[in-house]
Amino acid sequence: MTARESILVVEDERQIREFIVSALTGVGFSVSEASTVAHAASLSATHPPSLILLDLGLPDRSGIDFIRDYRAWSATPILVLSARAEERDKVDALDAGADDYLTKPFGIAELRARIRALLRRHPLTQATASATLRFGDHVIDCVNRIVRRNGLPIHLSQIEYRLLAFLAANPGRVLTHRQLLTQVWGSRALESHQYLRVYVGHLRQKIEASPAQPKHILTEIGIGYRFEP
Ligand code: CA
Repeated sequence: MTARESILVVEDERQIREFIVSALTGVGFSVSEASTVAHAASLSATHPPSLILLDLGLPDRSGIDFIRDYRAWSATPILVLSARAEERDKVDALDAGADDYLTKPFGIAELRARIRALLRRHPLTQATASATLRFGDHVIDCVNRIVRRNGLPIHLSQIEYRLLAFLAANPGRVLTHRQLLTQVWGSRALESHQYLRVYVGHLRQKIEASPAQPKHILTEIGIGYRFEP
């Protein structure tokens, strides 16, 4: 194990968090802790971990929302630890960008083994992550989920923010309707192409100098959208 293997534990139940933290520090990991999505987002940017252990039921926002927003700027592996045992919850978490899912209660030996397996597959992920995305006169602060143009914040809904961050994190790539719907709304929204059209329209009004002749969010007819910074 190298000194870089640090784990961020996001869990609001203190006893479970302390149990996990002591089980991981006991085998040499460096561990940081958060009990809210907001704290997890800021810690993951200031002290990028090698891996995140994430509860889904958190007091300020859902863990699924954290995963969707985090995946716009970081590929660091996420292992979900949740009491939700339904297949549907696992599918949602994995589609949002989680790498693995462990149902509570779990054994500590299995938790450590899954952590080792994820770290083997993602040895260097945290090296280049940046929580700031830029295009034109705009800056996206992925930790606080704020978009500014020339320093002034633009008001965006949660969905508008997530759509813009995902587009901006993939400059020049054609993103299909399916990819965008899954990433922004979840896998149950796959038939809802009209949502996407409506929200792209809203975003163009807010970020394009000339919304009818967009320069950033370009339509790929019959396929999806492409973002040009
Ligand atoms: Ca919880």
